[in-house]
Amino acid sequence: PRYQSVALIIGVTGIVGNSLAEILPLSDTPGGLWKVYGVARRPCPAWTSNNPVEYIQCDVLDAQESHAKLSKLTDVTHVFYVTWANMHEEAENCKVNADMLRNVLNAIIPNAPNLQHICLQTGRKHYIGPFDLFGKIKSHEPPFHEDLLRLEVPNFYYSLEDVLFEEVKKKEGLNWSIHRPGTVFGFSPYSLMNIVGSLCVYAAICKHEGTVLKFPGSRAAWEGYCDASDADLVAEHQIWAAVDPNAKNEAFNCSNGDVFKWKHLWKVLAEQFGVQCGEFDEKFKLSLQEMMKNKGPVWEEIVREKGLVPTKLEDVGAWWFADVVLGSETLLDSMNKSKEHGFVGFRNSKTSFHYWICKMRTHRVVP
Ligand code: NDP
Repeated sequence: PRYQSVALIIGVTGIVGNSLAEILPLSDTPGGLWKVYGVARRPCPAWTSNNPVEYIQCDVLDAQESHAKLSKLTDVTHVFYVTWANMHEEAENCKVNADMLRNVLNAIIPNAPNLQHICLQTGRKHYIGPFDLFGKIKSHEPPFHEDLLRLEVPNFYYSLEDVLFEEVKKKEGLNWSIHRPGTVFGFSPYSLMNIVGSLCVYAAICKHEGTVLKFPGSRAAWEGYCDASDADLVAEHQIWAAVDPNAKNEAFNCSNGDVFKWKHLWKVLAEQFGVQCGEFDEKFKLSLQEMMKNKGPVWEEIVREKGLVPTKLEDVGAWWFADVVLGSETLLDSMNKSKEHGFVGFRNSKTSFHYWICKMRTHRVVP
C-alpha cells in the first residue's frame, strides 16, 4: 500500500491507544492511508491482534531500550502519546512521566526526518490539580477553558507540556497539539483508569452474588450534571489536530459535548447485566475500593464459569478511580475552542456508555 502518513502510538493497548489503533488504519481516516506502529510493555494481547498495527514491546521509561527500539522507526510522521505512569506521589509523577516522554522524543526527533506532529494527551486535572490534592486546593472556576493559567502546584501534565515544548524546538517545522479529556469512556482491560470497564466488573459481581447494584457515590454525581470523553472521539480529535493546519500548536479540551446524570447511566448498567438497579442513599457511604477488597476469588470464579478472557480483578477494576469519579462533583469544561478551530465532533454520552459496555462484553472481558 502507498502510505501518506506513519503513526507511532505510545500506549497502544490503553483506553485511547486502542481507539487510535482501530481508527487510524481505516481507509477513510483523515491523513491516510496510515501505517501504524504501536508501543506498550506487555505482549500484544489477543483482543487487539486483529488491528493492522506493527506492535513493539518497549518500556519507554527505559532510555536505552527506547533508543534501541524506537530510533529505528525512521519513517514516523506523527506521534500519539497516550500513556502515563502512576507513582501516586505527584513529585514522582512529574519526574517519571517527563522521563518517559523525553525518552520517546529523544529517540524519534533526531531520527525521523519526516516527523511533522506530536499529539500529547493530558487531561482535565490540568485545571483541577493532581489526585492527591483533590479537595485541598482551589481549582479554577468551571467551565474550564484552555487559556486558564496553570495552578501553582506540581502537576505531571505541566511537566509533560514543558518537555514537549522543549523537544519540538529541536526540529524546524515540527508541530504539536495537547488534548485534555475528562473521564474517558472506552475499551481496554490494560488501562489504569477505565470507569466503564470497572463498573462492568462490579455489575457482573453483583449479578453473580445476587445483590442489588448499589450506587457507591455521592449525591453530586447521582443527581448533578456530569460529562465524559468517548475514547473514539478523543482519537478523532487527535487525528484532526494531527492533520488540520487550524489546530497546530494549540491545547484543546476534549469532551462529548453533552451532560448526563449517573442515575440515568446506572439504569443502563443494571439492565445490561440483569441486576436490580440500586439508588443513591445518604446512609450507605460506600466505597468500591472497600467493597471489592476480597472479591478476587469471586472474579476468578466468574472468569472460569463464563469462559472469559483471563484477567485479574486488580487489572480490570480501578476501584480507587471509580470512587473518585462517582464520589465527586464533575467540574465541566468548554468545547468552544475546538469548535472555533473547526472540530465539531461529539458523542451522546448515554449511547457511548452503552456502546463501551457492549464492547467489553463482545470481547469477553465481562459476561
Ligand atoms: P491507559 O492507562 O489507558 O493506557 C496506558 C498505555 O500505555 C497501555 O497501553 C500501557 O500498556 C502503556 N504503558 C504504560 N506504561 C508504559 C511504559 N513504561 N512503556 C510503554 N508503554 C507503557 O492510558 P490513558 O489513556 O488513560 O492515559 C493517558 C493520559 O490520559 C494520562 O495522562 C491520563 O492521566 C489521561 N487521562 C485519562 C483519563 C481516563 O479516564 N483514563 C481521563 C482523563 C485523562 P502496558 O501496561 O502493557 O505497558
